[in-house]
Amino acid sequence: MSLFSAVAMAPRDPILGLNEQFNADTNPAKVNLGVGVYYDENGKLPLLRCVAEAEAGMQAAPKARGYLPIDGIAAYDKAVQGLVFGADSDILKAGRVATVQAIGGTGGLKIGADFLQKLNPAAKVLISDPSWENHRALFTNAGFTVDAYPYYDAENRGINFAGMLAALNAAPARTVVVLHACCHNPTGYDLTAAQWEQVVAAVKARGLVAFLDMAYQGFGEGIAEDGAVIQQFLAAGLDFFVSTSFSKSFSLYGERVGALSVVCASADETAKVLSQLKIVIRTNYSNPPTHGAQVVATVLGTPALRSMWEEELAGMRVRIKAMRGALVAALKAAGVTADLEFVTRQKGMFSYSGLNAAQMQRLRSEFGIYGVDSGRICVAALNEKNLPAVAAAMAAVMR
Ligand code: PLP
Repeated sequence: MSLFSAVAMAPRDPILGLNEQFNADTNPAKVNLGVGVYYDENGKLPLLRCVAEAEAGMQAAPKARGYLPIDGIAAYDKAVQGLVFGADSDILKAGRVATVQAIGGTGGLKIGADFLQKLNPAAKVLISDPSWENHRALFTNAGFTVDAYPYYDAENRGINFAGMLAALNAAPARTVVVLHACCHNPTGYDLTAAQWEQVVAAVKARGLVAFLDMAYQGFGEGIAEDGAVIQQFLAAGLDFFVSTSFSKSFSLYGERVGALSVVCASADETAKVLSQLKIVIRTNYSNPPTHGAQVVATVLGTPALRSMWEEELAGMRVRIKAMRGALVAALKAAGVTADLEFVTRQKGMFSYSGLNAAQMQRLRSEFGIYGVDSGRICVAALNEKNLPAVAAAMAAVMR
């Protein structure tokens, strides 16, 4: 008996497995739509100009790399707060938000999950059905029982809002509800402002704890528009959690730049919450890394670089929308008669295409088009060169 003889093989990450299959495929026309990253019109991962300029400035005046404070770079945390809550917002003036730098959006979720687990170990967590595949595992590993609230309505190509609301209204007080602030991953379907208002009312009436995951701010309708839901929670006077990711919006995936913000009832509570978040960080990885957060703080804090970022982000958003429209047009031109309007209604990088697992497998085996078996495709990986082949293949399997 060796020390590890009882260790079972963990299941493969389904999306990484798909990537491996894609890499091994010898079809010269292959297209990878399984990814969760934005590619530019040439199919390349972009290095944003604002990032390159910020880095050039940093390289021109190199600095020694000491430990950061446990909660990260102060200017970075402040910039995150401004972006999420509005730089002039009353909540920030009142000192009622605790923000810590985190290792990507995932890190922000994990710090929040660990803090909530200590605060209320018996609480359940509700995630959307379906959700980003790591939500369930992350909250389960933090010690929670995780259930799902209804979200995707396959039949009507939209959201089962009545089902979602009923689940929230049946949840016990203190249940943690994980909500996608914008650009729902994987479906692409977002709530309307009026629906959010009802969610906010249910969270308030039932005493639930909202945890807003904002991994795509700026990819839906715009930075302020995508953050509007935060204002709705603030207006209701709720305490809540927001995780932020800059992986996509700055194309800084590998730098792991994110944050967690906790809205509290008073400045006094905020100081106490912050002290506990720091304990979570200290006992996990001590303090965060420097480079990515310094880049983001520099861009957000330098007016010229900030406008450049806003333009570059708008460019990504507009290109994704154009690809949605072009995909629908190409499918129609290829003879697909079904109503495909839902593709242009969806927001963000993904589309639940409505294709089933068998059709997705056919796309892979016959055409070298790789998407997830759930029917999710990454619209941000489409471009004018690969679109005709993708549309022709999709039309073939839809026939
Ligand atoms: N939350 C959602 C909904 C996501 O889609 C992602 C990334 O795909 C994340 C969180 C994680 O972001 P990060 O890569 O910054 O950890």
